[in-house]
Amino acid sequence: MPATSDALKRAEKLRIELDEYNYRYYVQDNPSVSDAVYDAGMRELRELEVEFPDLVTPVSPTQRVGAPPDKGFAEAPHRGQMFSLANSFDDDEYMAWVERTRRLLNDRDFDVTCELKIDGLAVSLTYQNGVLVRGATRGDGMKGEDVTSNVRTIKSIPLRLLGSPPEHIEIRGEIYMSREGFHRMNAERTNEGLALYANPRNSAAGSVRQLDPAITAQRPLDIWVYGIGVVEGGTVPDTQWDLLAWLNSMGVRTNPNNTHYAKPEGAIEYYRKWIDDRENTDYDTDGMVVKVNSRADCDELGVVGREPRWAMAYKWPAQQEVTQLLGIRVNVGRTGKINPFAVLEPVFVGGVTVQHATLHNEDYIHDKDIRVGDWVVVERAGEVIPQIVQSLPERRGPDAREFNMPTTCPVCGTEVTRAEGESAHYCKNPACPAQLSELIFHFVSKGAMDIDGMGPKLATSLLEAELITDVADIFSLKLEDVVELERMGDLSATKLVTNIAASKQQPLHRLLFALGIVHVGAEVAELLATEFGEMDKLIATNESELTEIPGIGPRIAESIVEYFGDADNLALVGKLRDAGVRMDADIPDAPAEGLPMSGMAFCFTGTLSGMSRTQGEERVKALGATASGSVTQKTTHLVIGEKPGASKVKQAEKYGTEVLDEDAFMALLPE
Ligand code: NAD
Repeated sequence: MPATSDALKRAEKLRIELDEYNYRYYVQDNPSVSDAVYDAGMRELRELEVEFPDLVTPVSPTQRVGAPPDKGFAEAPHRGQMFSLANSFDDDEYMAWVERTRRLLNDRDFDVTCELKIDGLAVSLTYQNGVLVRGATRGDGMKGEDVTSNVRTIKSIPLRLLGSPPEHIEIRGEIYMSREGFHRMNAERTNEGLALYANPRNSAAGSVRQLDPAITAQRPLDIWVYGIGVVEGGTVPDTQWDLLAWLNSMGVRTNPNNTHYAKPEGAIEYYRKWIDDRENTDYDTDGMVVKVNSRADCDELGVVGREPRWAMAYKWPAQQEVTQLLGIRVNVGRTGKINPFAVLEPVFVGGVTVQHATLHNEDYIHDKDIRVGDWVVVERAGEVIPQIVQSLPERRGPDAREFNMPTTCPVCGTEVTRAEGESAHYCKNPACPAQLSELIFHFVSKGAMDIDGMGPKLATSLLEAELITDVADIFSLKLEDVVELERMGDLSATKLVTNIAASKQQPLHRLLFALGIVHVGAEVAELLATEFGEMDKLIATNESELTEIPGIGPRIAESIVEYFGDADNLALVGKLRDAGVRMDADIPDAPAEGLPMSGMAFCFTGTLSGMSRTQGEERVKALGATASGSVTQKTTHLVIGEKPGASKVKQAEKYGTEVLDEDAFMALLPE
């Protein structure tokens, strides 16, 4: 189908934008937009070009890699094109490539190498008779920039190859900056008042592409080598796997995490492993690269445009994506806080489909100029709730609307207030049904009273049936009340009633957290329970006594005093007490004296091979030490297993806590 004039206009606009983004990213090493915005534009252009093939031109950003070389450097033409890579984002897309490749190989099966995809700067290193004669950037794939003097300063790039290298060989790899090096460098730049680099990738690229090699020499750069270009006067191994070993034997750095699989399906196992482990490398990766192992097969498969058909980049899930903001709604939290949230055109980000994202508060929405109808960047990293990090005003349509916080609670109609100095709006009606249901969900949750079997659905039914009107009513529920509710079998009802009864024994800090007092999270609740020991002592306290406790600031103190100053809240505590809910804290075990580990305080992190963490804790306790789940100033030893928690290790560094690996810990235990 010939392109419509709308498609033509849109494609032209996208090309201009993408060329500009490429220039900023590849030439200036200072991107003007996030990768998510760039990727979304690229995807849209590709889709347009697929729908209207006559739109494709050789200069389209979809047909070329990177950007043309910068004027400041001498041009370095590549004898063999340097490529980009085709991408997949899930197993299905990856397996579709596998099937396609099998078909192209006349249904022959093939083995693969899996390599980490290093997020740095692609370079080509030419060696004549084993001597480094040229270093070049990828540029637009056909010609790059001559950065020979700069790459010569990178210590892990050999100036002379070992063994008997071919007469002429072009070696390709990725120059990167370690995360540690990046942070160190940015810290130095802060001290010197210089602009900071956005990430290790940009700082690696910016460091290599310095007109003054003396600057490159000061930067902590390294290289991982993964392939070759033109080779003359020598024999190249028949497979990628042997090629990597051969390159390594010549003294260039190949990544030790590369693996070989007899079948392409094996790569999925590699992906699963590295998606979890990727944080443990000292360099950034953005996925894995799977390559057909046999060189003869690769030659048969060839290259289409800028992408070889024999390789596939299977990317880690993008943590940012662009989508449209369809609406902004609010919900009422357990403390009455009015939380605005985004309703989004569903988008796959961070490994899941996201439809809602937090917008924090009204100030956040206005400061970021986020309007209903806008295109926005959504981020979902790890377990963190998805959030909108940016709007794209340049893509704003005429219908986009500003958001204003409702003036009354959407659930009970009470006027909404905003405390001075706070960004949050609150519904201050304690009887607001929305607050009550949120409070009940929170009260029974894992970190709070931990009543297993009482999910939000059941809690809602109990509220609707008016079997509970506050959290204390949970403890007067009878078996017959619960059985009568929808789809609740005898067995689950009995279990639930038993769990409710058992939860009465939860220690004070759990109860304090469960009550949902504004600003009293799990940590503050623990502090309060340790400090006061009993509910009544806490009720009797005042703001100045509270603020003397390290970790309790004036805002928390004010909120606690306000909570217990309210007659309804006191009545609720009384009702809980009458129901038999425990009102005191666990007494910490007194550390034993005179035992081999008396006076020591341990924390365990990561997986130990010889015992579980709990077993480790029991061992040290039996020997007179204490054990806790976090590193504090009092911790004397941090024992680290596999995949230790980074924050614990950092805390240990901060407090000078001794860090032991499993062997050192075992050596400390008496025979
Ligand atoms: P790509 O993601 O298509 O991957 C190809 C590159 O991977 C190769 O050139 C090579 O250098 C590298 N690589 C790393 N490890 C490798 C290995 N083991 N084997 C083979 N190759 C390996 O790279 P691209 O085309 O340079 O860049 C596209 C990416 O850059 C996109 O994800 C995009 O988000 C980002 N980008 C962002 C902006 C922006 O403005 N934010 C602009 C341009 C590009």
